[in-house]
Amino acid sequence: MKELTRKRILVTGGAGFLGSHLCERLVAQGHDVLCVDNFYTGSKDNIAHLLDCANFELMRHDVTFPLYVEVDQIYNLACPASPIHYQHDPVQTTKTSVHGAINMLGLAKRVKARIFQASTSEVYGDALVHPQREDYWGHVNPIGPRSCYDEGKRCAETLFMDYHRQHGLSIRIARIFNTYGPRMHPADGRVVSNFMMQALRGEPLTLYGDGTQTRSFCYVDDMVGAFILLMNCADDPGGPVNLGNPHEVSMREIAMRIVALTGSTSPLETRPLPADDPWHRQPDISAATRLLGWRPDTSLDEGLLRTARYFRARIAASQQPLPQAGAGASVESAP
Ligand code: NAD
Ligand code: UDP
Repeated sequence: MKELTRKRILVTGGAGFLGSHLCERLVAQGHDVLCVDNFYTGSKDNIAHLLDCANFELMRHDVTFPLYVEVDQIYNLACPASPIHYQHDPVQTTKTSVHGAINMLGLAKRVKARIFQASTSEVYGDALVHPQREDYWGHVNPIGPRSCYDEGKRCAETLFMDYHRQHGLSIRIARIFNTYGPRMHPADGRVVSNFMMQALRGEPLTLYGDGTQTRSFCYVDDMVGAFILLMNCADDPGGPVNLGNPHEVSMREIAMRIVALTGSTSPLETRPLPADDPWHRQPDISAATRLLGWRPDTSLDEGLLRTARYFRARIAASQQPLPQAGAGASVESAP
C-alpha cells in the first residue's frame, strides 16, 4: 500500500464483536491499526489471529480516561452494546459513552483526525415513526433501564455535532441497527445469540412478550463495509446516517427460522417483555444508499447459517478437554 493511502487508525472497542471485524478488515487493507479495549465485554480471542500482524497493535485502555496517541482516523466503538451488559453497570455505561466521546473527540481535535462514532438505532427509542429516518428525533424514556445506553449515545451524538460546529472537526456518525454474526458473545443476551445457543443446545427458545415485536437484522460483513465507506466518503453527511438492513422480521419469525436452519427440536417458551422494549424497528437507509452507494446484500438466511456455524464451533470447542498447560490453545469463557 502507498504511504499516502496507508493510515494510522485507532479502533476503540476493537476487541468486541463489531470492532474485531473492523480491525480485521482495516489490517487486510494494509493500514496501521491500533486496537484499544478494556475487555469489559470484548475478548482477546476475537483479535488473537491479528496479534502476529506487523500492522496491528493492541492496547488495554479504558476510554473514560484520556489517551495520547498519534493517528489519522478514529473509529469510536467502545461501549457495551447488549441490554444485559449495558444495564449491568449503568453508570459506567453512561461514562463510557459520554466521557469516552469527550476523550476521543479531544484526541481527534489535537491530532486533526477524522472521527467516527458508533451510535445506535436506540437513539430513536420506542419509535412512533416507521421506518426510522435520520430526521426523526425519537421517543426515548430518559429515566428507564435502557436510558444509560440510549441517553449516553444521544449525548455522544450532541458532542460530536458540537465539536464539528464549534471546532470544525471532521466527524461521521453511524446509527447502527441490530447487527449479528460470528464473534457475538454467546452469553450477551441478544436475541440472535440467545436463540442460536438455545437451539443448538436443544433448550427452549426464550421469546419475550408475544414475539410480534420486530427488528431488522444486518449481517456483520455488510455493516463493517458501510463503516469504512462512511468514514472515507468525501461528502460531509451533515449529520448521523442510518446503517442497517431494512428487512424487518418479528421475534417469533426469527425464532422459527433459527430452529429450522439449525435442525433443532427446541420449543418456544414465552417470557415477560422487558421494560421499554421497542415495539418496531426498521431503518430507512436511503441516505446511506445515496451517499455511499451502499446496500446490505447478505440475506437473513445466509447470515444466520454463517452465524450458526460459528456458534456450533464454539460449543464444540468448549466441550473438548482443556489443553495441557503451555500448549498454546485457549477456550474462551463467558463472563
Ligand atoms: P461489544 O460489546 O462486543 O463491543 C464493545 C467493545 O467495547 C468491547 O470490546 C468492550 O470490551 C469495549 N469497551 C466497553 N467499554 C469500554 C471502555 N470504557 N473502554 C474501552 N473499551 C471498552 O459490542 P458491539 O456489538 O461490537 O458494539 C460495538 C459498538 O457498536 C458499540 O458502541 C455499540 O453501542 C454499537 N452498536 C452495536 C450494535 C449491534 O447490533 N451490534 C447496534 C447499535 C450500536
Ligand atoms: N428477545 C427475545 N428473547 C431473547 C432475547 C431478546 O425475545 O432471548 C427480544 C427482545 O425483547 C427484543 C428483541 O428480541 O424485542 C431484540 O432484543 P436484543 O436484546 O437482541 O436487541 P435490542 O432490544 O437492543 O434491539
